[in-house]
Amino acid sequence: MTSKQNIEDSPIDFAEQIIHDVKNSKEEGVLKCVQCGMCTSTCPAARHSDYNPRDIIERVLEGDTSILEDDLIWNCFYCYTCHSVCPVGNSVCEVNQILKQIAISNGIGYDKLYEYMGFADSYFTAAIGAIPEIFFDDIGRDVPGWWEFRKNLGEIRDELELDPPLMPPKEVIDEVSKILTITGFKAKIEKIRASQEEEK
Ligand code: SF4
Ligand code: SF4
Repeated sequence: MTSKQNIEDSPIDFAEQIIHDVKNSKEEGVLKCVQCGMCTSTCPAARHSDYNPRDIIERVLEGDTSILEDDLIWNCFYCYTCHSVCPVGNSVCEVNQILKQIAISNGIGYDKLYEYMGFADSYFTAAIGAIPEIFFDDIGRDVPGWWEFRKNLGEIRDELELDPPLMPPKEVIDEVSKILTITGFKAKIEKIRASQEEEK
């Protein structure tokens, strides 16, 4: 992988790859970026780190594929603020999701995912992205009353007559597991887990 495209390459090849990704809902938004910086001025990750969403789009438009190896892309946590304020209908949030997927497909950034493997497991065991147990203590500390809420969740849901039930039925879980296996998600998770084991 080269850090920059060659001069004879089309400068928008990298952008085109992102535009045509299934995750990109904003069609030509990437190419319409006017570098106004609205995304950066409202981005919480930019406020607390060197991450800069305007810069992400600039680098994509320059064909700078070294961005895939830049730790900063992992600072975006998909709050979608940039998505809602962009005057030309671009979404740095979605672009970032695509960049991370390309990075992962190239074996980059596995270490950024180790902490979140519990989410992946929960898709197989519950067909939902349930909060992994390793986060419970932190949430309990940061959110007053969370443990109490969690303990009584069933009762609260009954009282509010919430439907359908919190956990999907077994046939749904089996079907989701099957889809995740066929589409290659399971194989990807196994690869990341193997890399985590190697680093121990
Ligand atoms: S808000 Fe939109 S147009 Fe402005 S810099 Fe960000 S992505 Fe580009
Ligand atoms: S989705 Fe990412 S880039 Fe957009 S505002 Fe939120 S943290 Fe920033």
